[in-house]
Amino acid sequence: MSTRYANPDLHSHSVFSDGTLPPADVAALAASHGVDLWSLTDHDDLDSQPHALRAAHEHGMDYLSGVEVSVTYEGITVHIVGLGFDVSNVSLIRGLQETRASRQERARQIGEQFARLGIAGAYEGALQLAEHPEAIARPHFARFLVEQGVCRNVQQAFTTYLADGKPCDVPNQWATLADSVRWITDAGGMAIIAHPARYRFSESRETAFFEAFHALGGRGVEVIAGGHSAREARRYASMARRFGLAASRGSDFHNPGEGRNEPGTLPPLPPDLDPVWSLLDDRIQRVAH
Ligand code: AMP
Ligand code: MN
Ligand code: MN
Ligand code: MN
Repeated sequence: MSTRYANPDLHSHSVFSDGTLPPADVAALAASHGVDLWSLTDHDDLDSQPHALRAAHEHGMDYLSGVEVSVTYEGITVHIVGLGFDVSNVSLIRGLQETRASRQERARQIGEQFARLGIAGAYEGALQLAEHPEAIARPHFARFLVEQGVCRNVQQAFTTYLADGKPCDVPNQWATLADSVRWITDAGGMAIIAHPARYRFSESRETAFFEAFHALGGRGVEVIAGGHSAREARRYASMARRFGLAASRGSDFHNPGEGRNEPGTLPPLPPDLDPVWSLLDDRIQRVAH
C-alpha cells in the first residue's frame, strides 16, 4: 500500500545551482506551506542532496532524491528532472560533472556579450552571486543586473537580455536526451520532462520529443508546474494520458522574490493520473517516527 501525500513538491532549487537560499531554508519554506514529500532538484548537481535530505527529515517531510539535468534536444534546451535515484551512482555523478563543466566558459562569453552592449563587469558580478561557481547560470547574471539598477527585476533581465534567443543568451551544448534518461534510470530513478509548457516546440516536434523520451525509458511529465497556466496543466495532463506517463508536481522554486510559486502552493494533480510518487514508493526516504 503506497503512502498518500496531500502536498508533494518535487522541483526546487538552492544555492547549489541557481536558487538563492541554502537547502535548509528551502526545506523550511516548503514545510511552512505543508509540503509532506519534497525533492530538491538543483541543476546538474548532486552535492546539495545530503543537505536536503537532512533538512527534509528535520522538518518532518519525506524525501525523494532529485536533480534537473540540462539537455540539448534537436537544438532546443530542455530540462529532465530525475527523482528517486541512488545519489552515489558513479555514471550519474560523472555525467552531471561533464554537463556542468562548460558553464564557466559560457559564463565568460555571456559577460563578453554584455560588455559589447556597454554593460561592464557582468561576469565578475554574476560569479560573485554564485555561491557555487561551477553552477553559474543565467539567473546570476539577471540578479547582477537588478542589483546594478540596469533592470527592474529578474523577469525583465530575461525578456531584455537573457531569455533564449536574446542578445546575451549564449547557447550551450548540454547532455543528450538519451544520456540524461539513461543516467537517471540506471541509477534506479525516474526521468521526468520538466515544465513542458516552457519549450518552444511546434506541435509535431513536441509529439516527436515525447515519443523519443518515452522510447528512451522516460516515464513522467510535470503536469502541475510553477509557471503553468490552468490551460497548460490540462494540455499536459492529456499528454500524460496519451503517452502513458506518470504525472509530477513541482513549483520550480528559486527565490522568494522572483515570481513563480513557493514550494507547496500549487493546485493538485488531476485525480485520474498516476502520480510519480506512487511509482517511486520504494525510493522514498521516510521520516523516522
Ligand atoms: P542556464 O542553465 O544558465 O541556461 O539558466 C537557465 C535558468 O534560467 C532556468 O533554470 C531558470 O531558472 C532561468 N530562466 C530561463 N528562462 C527564463 C525566463 N524566461 N524567465 C525567468 N527565468 C528564466
Ligand atoms: Mn533554474
Ligand atoms: Mn528548468
Ligand atoms: Mn528548475
